[in-house]
Amino acid sequence: MSEIRNDWTKEEILEIYNKPLLDLVYEAATIHRKYHNPNEVQVSTLLSIKTGGCPEDCAYCPQAARYHTDIETNDLMTVEQVKAQALRAKSSGSSRVCMGAAWRNVEDGPEFDQVLDMVRTINGLDMEVCCTLGMLSENQAKRLAEAGLYAYNHNLDSSEEYYKEIISTRGWEDRLETLKNVRKTNVTVCSGGIIGMGEKIEDRAGMLVALSSLSPQPESVPINALVSVEGTPLEEEQVVPIWDMIRMVALTRIVLPHTTVRLSAGRTEMSKEGQAFCFLAGAGSIFAGDKLLTTPNPDVNEDMELFKILGINPMKPYAKGAKPTPLAPEESTDAANEKIKWSRPGHRIEKNVEATKKANKKRKEAI
Ligand code: SF4
Repeated sequence: MSEIRNDWTKEEILEIYNKPLLDLVYEAATIHRKYHNPNEVQVSTLLSIKTGGCPEDCAYCPQAARYHTDIETNDLMTVEQVKAQALRAKSSGSSRVCMGAAWRNVEDGPEFDQVLDMVRTINGLDMEVCCTLGMLSENQAKRLAEAGLYAYNHNLDSSEEYYKEIISTRGWEDRLETLKNVRKTNVTVCSGGIIGMGEKIEDRAGMLVALSSLSPQPESVPINALVSVEGTPLEEEQVVPIWDMIRMVALTRIVLPHTTVRLSAGRTEMSKEGQAFCFLAGAGSIFAGDKLLTTPNPDVNEDMELFKILGINPMKPYAKGAKPTPLAPEESTDAANEKIKWSRPGHRIEKNVEATKKANKKRKEAI
């Protein structure tokens, strides 16, 4: 029951999802214990290295320039700023830094070169480095790998059918293309989704069908509970019930037995007991730090307190894969003039003037 399968059907997955909850958790916990150490949890720190002003229209995202949220936009951080944050994350138990930039896709040029420097720097601190930078070409994936990247995150978000309800500015096939480009390197794949966006249970199952059909399957699958943000099209969505989250974690554990299941956004709404249930059901990773890009997250001390209660230890870096050896910048692949054809054309950033004004006012008040 726990071998890797790339041929799961939606019906089979739904049958598992609808089992009595305790049977479901028992089955998932058994598989988790077979392939993973249940008393070790990997701790990642998510760093927003470039915040807001994104041209895309992901309905859940406060960083989309077109929505009227009041997040503070920020240009790309410097390598020194990132290094300081990474050192702080390391000293509080994180083994991985995940850098997120609110971009539609990576563009070759000085900003990408700066990100490559960040990757080299964090790799040099003996921490796993992950990036989530939007769509990526084959050459760009190669350059990230050569800089020492350990993982690339690019979520499928939901089922192929529901994806169209949530995002119109890029296609599902583009997402798969990016994952394919990452797979051409030795960088590991992190890809998951969000529940609580108004999707049906069938869509949650559909997302797992898609993820499990990838060969090899993603090394890491983040399961996020929507944090609805005022000003986004999903602002009215209700908090995801903890029981849905536990079922989704358990289901993911069963369908993708070797993958690390990441308990991601939405943890501030979960009790300690709820999170403990998720660990039992197969969650093997959390994001630490008081912010997840722009939305709230439990304080790292609270997480460590919970770990102590449960007897969980933070996982050491490279516990599941070797440390990549970076090439020196001069030895690395040059930016190529690749002709990249995404399924939807790039588009103008519709700047949210009101949000920018608000952010500038806040900044002035803080001085
Ligand atoms: S691409 Fe990323 S940053 Fe941009 S709107 Fe979508 S989720 Fe937000």
